[in-house]
Formats: sequence, structure tokens, C-alpha cells
Amino acid sequence: MRIDVLTLFPSMFTPMNESMMWKARDIGTLDLRVRDIRDFTTDRHRTADDIPYGGGGGMIMKPDVLVRAIEETLDDAPAGTPVIYMSPQGRVFSHAIAQELAQHERLVILCGHYEGIDERVLELAVTDEISIGDYVLTGGELAAMVVMDAVVRLLPGVLGAEGAAERDSHADGVLEGPHYTRPTVFRGLVVPEVLQGGNHSAIEAWRREQALRRTWRNRPDLLMKAELSEDEKYLLAKFANEDTTR
Ligand code: SAM
Repeated sequence: MRIDVLTLFPSMFTPMNESMMWKARDIGTLDLRVRDIRDFTTDRHRTADDIPYGGGGGMIMKPDVLVRAIEETLDDAPAGTPVIYMSPQGRVFSHAIAQELAQHERLVILCGHYEGIDERVLELAVTDEISIGDYVLTGGELAAMVVMDAVVRLLPGVLGAEGAAERDSHADGVLEGPHYTRPTVFRGLVVPEVLQGGNHSAIEAWRREQALRRTWRNRPDLLMKAELSEDEKYLLAKFANEDTTR
């Protein structure tokens, strides 16, 4: 997958050189091109923002510069390439949206800054607006990295067998259950016995029950949409009678 990021602050993207994002680039799965929006300006001061019409504080990123940046970036892109503006006003990011974006060969991500971007950029060149939550950041760069990380880890070969994304929280609509590693006993707390044995079907059943219990306690809203068997629905009734302070 190729991702072009348009930003006024290219140096903010150094985290994309670490860990799994570094691996995705190293194995050729991710072709990340961070482009400085000022490279698409035409004046000698490389002006990319201006004062708002109607007054008020904050600067607005200029439509001519942004549309030029997007159009030049899309020049050799396949039709239907999403142009995503990171925005607190967009649809709220989720695992489902990450899966949807992971299907594309290319993505273009526009990071706003200051008071935001001229409205005409949305009308002329943006196809999607994505928010990473109901709060306001100073710029779209951190949000873009959140989206890229969640999308790229879904691409084949990035996580490897040990971290298969299908087992993670949200992949099948519920949270993942607890994990343990050595030692078997730590400060008096013992690894559950079932995990210490080699009975794989018992381990799978235990993990599913733990996942449902955790979802019931932490995010009961998710259970409204999750696909559950009759036995699993019965388990929920059991959780309702448990002591939730534990
Ligand atoms: N004036 C804008 C508003 O009230 O909607 C907020 C502008 S914000 C200070 C600057 C930039 O940060 C935005 O243009 C956007 O790119 C980015 N941003 C802020 N919050 C975000 C969020 N929750 N998700 C994604 N991007 C966000």
C-alpha cells in the first residue's frame, strides 16, 4: 500500500520509522511518502495559510495550495483513491473503517493545522473525513499516524503469525481476554490453570469466556452488535450475577 501524507510538519512522522511501521516499510508492504505542503506553494515566502474571512482567531490553510497538493499527488493514482482529511468533524475511526481503508492500493491523508482548512478544499478534493475521537488536537499529524498504524497492521505479513490481528480486540466485535507470561506465580497471583495445560479446546473456550466477560464489564455497548451463540448469550446472564468489583 502507498500512503501519501500531506502535512506542514513532516518531521512529526518519525514514529513511522519504528517497530511494526518500520517493518511494514522494510518488507515493502508500506510505501509511505510524507510530503511538505509548503512544497506546493508558489510564492517566495512559501505561504500555506492566511487570515480567516469574517474575523476571529487562528489561521486557515489556503485552498489553492491544498488543492494543488492533492491533485499533484493523485496524478498517477488509481481512480477511487480516498483523499482523507483528518478532522474532529469526520466519521469516528474504528476497526471497521481500518479494514475498509486496508483494501485500497493507495491513500492520501491531509493533515490540517491551526484553525483548519478552507471549506472549498472539502468540496473540491476531499472524499472522506475521519476523526480519531470527540476531542480537538492541534493538528492532524498524530491522528494520521493513528489511522495509518491501525490500517497498516492489518496488511498481510506485517504482524506475522504471532500477532495475528484477527485475535485482537474489536476484530470480531468484542474485547480480547487477559494474557499471561512467565513466571507462573507473581506476587501471589497465579496464571490460570487451564493455560498451563495443553488442552487447546479448553484454552479456546476459556479465552472466549474471558473475552466476553471483559467486554461485558468494560464495553457492554459492544455486545449489542456482536454475533453471539445461544450459549454465549447464556454466559452474559451469568456475568450479570457476578461481583463486578473483582
Ligand atoms: N477549528 C476546527 C474545529 O473546530 O473543527 C479544529 C481545528 S484543529 C485545532 C486543527 C487540525 O487538527 C484539524 O484541521 C484537523 O486536521 C486536526 N484534528 C483535530 N482534532 C482532530 C480529531 N479529533 N481527529 C482528527 N483530526 C483532528
